[in-house]
Amino acid sequence: MTGHRITTALADVAGALDRSFLAWPFFEERHRRLANELGAWVLAHVGAVDHTEATVDDAARGYVRGLADAGWLAHCVPADDTTPLDVRSLCLARETLAAADGLADFAFAMQGLGSGPISLFGTPAQRRTYLPAVRAGRKIGAFALSEAAAGSDVAALATTARRDGNGFVLDGGKTWISNAGIADFYVVFARTDEAPGAKGLSAFVVDADTPGFTVTERLPIIAPHPIGTLGFTGCRVDADALIGQPGEGFKIAMATLDVFRATVGAAALGFARRALAEAVMRARSRVVFGQPLAQLQMIQGKLADMATQVDAAALLVYRAAWTKDTTGARVSREASMAKLFATEAAQSVIDEAVQIFGGHGVVAGNVVERLYREIRALRIYEGASEIQRLIIAGQVLANAGRPNPTPAR
Ligand SMILES: Cc1cc2nc3c(=O)[nH]c(=O)nc-3n(C[C@H](O)[C@H](O)[C@H](O)COP(=O)(O)OP(=O)(O)OC[C@H]3O[C@@H](n4cnc5c(N)ncnc54)[C@H](O)[C@@H]3O)c2cc1C
Repeated sequence: MTGHRITTALADVAGALDRSFLAWPFFEERHRRLANELGAWVLAHVGAVDHTEATVDDAARGYVRGLADAGWLAHCVPADDTTPLDVRSLCLARETLAAADGLADFAFAMQGLGSGPISLFGTPAQRRTYLPAVRAGRKIGAFALSEAAAGSDVAALATTARRDGNGFVLDGGKTWISNAGIADFYVVFARTDEAPGAKGLSAFVVDADTPGFTVTERLPIIAPHPIGTLGFTGCRVDADALIGQPGEGFKIAMATLDVFRATVGAAALGFARRALAEAVMRARSRVVFGQPLAQLQMIQGKLADMATQVDAAALLVYRAAWTKDTTGARVSREASMAKLFATEAAQSVIDEAVQIFGGHGVVAGNVVERLYREIRALRIYEGASEIQRLIIAGQVLANAGRPNPTPAR
């Protein structure tokens, strides 16, 4: 500790990170192995994590290379047509990386999300061109859905893709696009007008060097990440850039988010576990009124509530992941519950950790201060909390009175 700066490395609190959840029946031996091996890799390879707008692009690229070289990207980009993404592995990896550094998790998750529509719906040629390169860290991907006037309301998106001979011409703009500026390709959702609203969208893969494509703006956000705004002006792509069928864009976007939404909850869980571990260690060492904070019942109450929120979040995240992996069916309700609860719980757990740290909790660069900034965006992107509530309520209302499925085992 130097002055008010308390720089705990992950290794300093690793003993306080609860690992008992790995014994839960959601997991197989390969999952426990992944969590343990990636946990060890993170301890050895994730160092200083004070990212700034000036350094964040290089840091993100560095993580992509490091994660690829160590083989971890294999868990977010499938090797062939027959191996589906294993959502429990995705969640365990995100949780483990997020506990060390939000940017490490971001780099991992974006390789998966950016290539997700190709993994799930791409043609054999698209899969050959992009997936091995993404796995190897030679190409960085991005998922470009949101627009200035179409965030929560995806069906309102206005970027157009007009048929032009043997191809399409894209015009419009996207914003809040993670990896803007460092991505080598962007999966872009645009209006092709087969039908009004959501049924008139299609998905395209657009290489970053395509004429007519530009990154028009970078957005500085509270926890630095590569993110920005894209412009398309007469941006022509060949017909083989189309992912899936014309008019399937909304379906492709939602099916991709169905896989990745629970993993946002897993990243939040990683932040929350780290905050809890930091708070426990601080409560044990900080002496007030002649005794450690940890002896005070009001602090114990906070720790108990934090630990309970962490476990409840973990149960929902891994329930959603297990359900997706074992049924292969859409898991919108489970994934929305996992994302909603885990991100909101993490915000509350981290806030209490800041409180337990007292003044040190708000000193720039201290771990809990960084977590306090990192968690905020997770309650907004990939469907804000309010949108998750709409999805859950829609499913609850639609399912009322329907027969319950027979248990699979
Ligand atoms: C850090 C970050 C990274 C992102 N990365 C990506 C990315 O890689 N790709 C991408 O495509 N997008 C990305 N996004 C965009 C993100 O998905 C949108 O910000 C999000 O969908 C919300 O859209 P909006 O910002 O336009 O808010 P709005 O849609 O304007 O919503 C504003 C508020 O109103 C609430 N609201 C909206 N509708 C309702 C309703 N019916 N009932 C009640 N409340 C409602 C929302 O929940 C929200 O709280 C990212 C955003 C952030 C912050």
